[in-house]
Amino acid sequence: MFLGIPADGFERTVLKNQSRRCPRCGAPVRFAYRCKRRLILLREQLALEVDTDRCSDPACPLRAGFGPPEEARLALPKFIYGLDVLTEIARRRWVLRQTVPEIHVALHEDYGLPISERNVDYAIQTWQELATASVLRDRRRIDALTHQGGIILAIDGLQPEKGHETLYLFRDTISRTNLLTQTLSNSSSDHVVALIDQVKALGLPILGVVTDKQHSLVLAVDKALPGIPHQLCQFHFFRNLAQPVVEADRAMKKHIKKKLRGIAPVERSLAKKAATGAAAGAGQATAYCLALRATLQDAGKPPLDLGGLKMVERLQQIDHSLAESPEKGGCRSDFVCGT
Ligand SMILES: [Zn+2]
Repeated sequence: MFLGIPADGFERTVLKNQSRRCPRCGAPVRFAYRCKRRLILLREQLALEVDTDRCSDPACPLRAGFGPPEEARLALPKFIYGLDVLTEIARRRWVLRQTVPEIHVALHEDYGLPISERNVDYAIQTWQELATASVLRDRRRIDALTHQGGIILAIDGLQPEKGHETLYLFRDTISRTNLLTQTLSNSSSDHVVALIDQVKALGLPILGVVTDKQHSLVLAVDKALPGIPHQLCQFHFFRNLAQPVVEADRAMKKHIKKKLRGIAPVERSLAKKAATGAAAGAGQATAYCLALRATLQDAGKPPLDLGGLKMVERLQQIDHSLAESPEKGGCRSDFVCGT
């Protein structure tokens, strides 16, 4: 099992079902309970709060409860590391031919990922198991899914590197069951349709489909599952939506940092004056320098907590304070101008 995870630095993210109607029977749904789960992705760490709803119709199988499909698309059940981490480990293992210790070091250096060698090894085994799994043959589990009244099918194509095989995962997001995993060297929509047909052959009613809008997947779903409600993953949708804002903020942050580079000679000069006891008021100037340094070090947590905007807010506070400082003679600085 994955252990040794830091207790902080996780971004709170709430996942809910988008519709307040049951996907099985259309009756209104009621909130049932909220589960908490920590998830480490390649570029972010999430403190997930996942809301489960229940159908209000006592005769409906979804009376037992069902959660939002996004959760199944981020990670396998009970795993703290996301599917993107698993894919990156697989890429390094089978495409770059790296050893477990090499992958461990690379994940720390490239992503700052908190992961042990043991967990890298475990992720490799899990990927192998996924890649060799075939259609669910466990009759009892299929019966349980039939009793559930149908499945909401999440389809994902994980590709360790462009031009290489893609691992397709088909999961039911209501019961969080893996239905089928298979690698394809050709990801054309016809090949994906053939996989969807294998899932259809299980004979389970498909209530809805969730994908990340990958072109061949959308075509395949249109072809193989016409008329079935097709939802795009909310989490990935919002993240993609936020991406241009995050990039603009990063560019602004870079620009501000460049402008503030001049702080180093000021610090050296203040240190010199303090050593000779020459400067009156040097203490206050040093405090401002420290405040500027702290501002430069706060990276924020995009997309909700933008580092560049945070920097501007703090610089405005420092600017305001300088303007009121009697030693500055009430003269405003130009820290923020032009940023
Ligand atoms: Zn229902």
